[in-house]
Amino acid sequence: MTHEYRGVIHVHSTFSDGRGDIDQIMLEANHADVDFLILTDHNTIEAKLRGYEGWHDCCLLVVGEEITPKTKADHYLALDIPCAIDPSDDPAKNIAAVRKAGGIGIIAHPTGGAVVKGEYLEYPWTDWDAGPFDGIEIWNHTYDITGKAKNIFELIFYVLFPKAAKAGPIQDVLDTWDRYSLSQSRRIIGIGGTDSHGLLSRYSDDFKTVCTYILAKEAFNYDAAHDIALVYEALRAGRCFVGADKVAKASGFKCEVVCGDNAVQMGGRACLSRGACLNVHAPEPGLIRIIHNSDVILEEKGVDLEAALESPGVYRVEVKRRVYGRYVPWIYGNHFFLA
Ligand SMILES: [Zn+2]
Ligand SMILES: [Zn+2]
Repeated sequence: MTHEYRGVIHVHSTFSDGRGDIDQIMLEANHADVDFLILTDHNTIEAKLRGYEGWHDCCLLVVGEEITPKTKADHYLALDIPCAIDPSDDPAKNIAAVRKAGGIGIIAHPTGGAVVKGEYLEYPWTDWDAGPFDGIEIWNHTYDITGKAKNIFELIFYVLFPKAAKAGPIQDVLDTWDRYSLSQSRRIIGIGGTDSHGLLSRYSDDFKTVCTYILAKEAFNYDAAHDIALVYEALRAGRCFVGADKVAKASGFKCEVVCGDNAVQMGGRACLSRGACLNVHAPEPGLIRIIHNSDVILEEKGVDLEAALESPGVYRVEVKRRVYGRYVPWIYGNHFFLA
């Protein structure tokens, strides 16, 4: 049995270029009913060094870093690291440094893009072959607002009316995620981030947008070290899904592969056997899609779906939710590996 917790990943405080200090951020996280929050200030883990990591009322603060080179590209989230990693302009060196520190390295907003001071700037990931990264931020809420605005007027419009922005992961990023998971036959974690700075909108509003839900192997017991380890363990295992709460609450999404007597969770591996199937349960009715090696192999409307699995490869699940007559991106599960 696993325990679902709703997390907000990728947040900036006054320790880098965010507007709020830790006390304010954690107050707003509690207001937004966030179970855990992963702070990733640019090139610093000062919040951890100053003892802020741990429980703040009902929200667990976990401190990582956003490794931010001077090149305005190749931002890399580093989680579970004992000390800050100095940024290199070479993404391969940043990937290697996170590995050496025993951390989890996640490519941030891989397609980049933001309007800064009236000018459109790119912050993309430039080299997918730079090394064995551990994950990809497949959906970044701030990118939904800033990255899709092509000029200052569109930016102002999307900030004022965030629901007007065409929210969702970039298909190229999802395809790359599938392709690398398949070709390298290794787990590449997909997470959702808010990239909140408290500048475009209130932190508490951002914290209800794009979340990462983990399925922890034990319940939190409010011992900070124990609970932080559970968060990292679930992320490393890929036992997590991206849920856009700005569309609808994603809590309660379930999917598992059943092979004989074995039930395998997201991020897991299984050997194909007769009668193997992928079972999906959506929290509310939606358009459920099964993706095998980048191809949609089944798509059905409803709450539950059972798909027979006949070929090896990587599988994942997406759910879209009907909003004002059209289906919009909502939930993205991590890969299953079938041999
Ligand atoms: Zn960034
Ligand atoms: Zn950021």
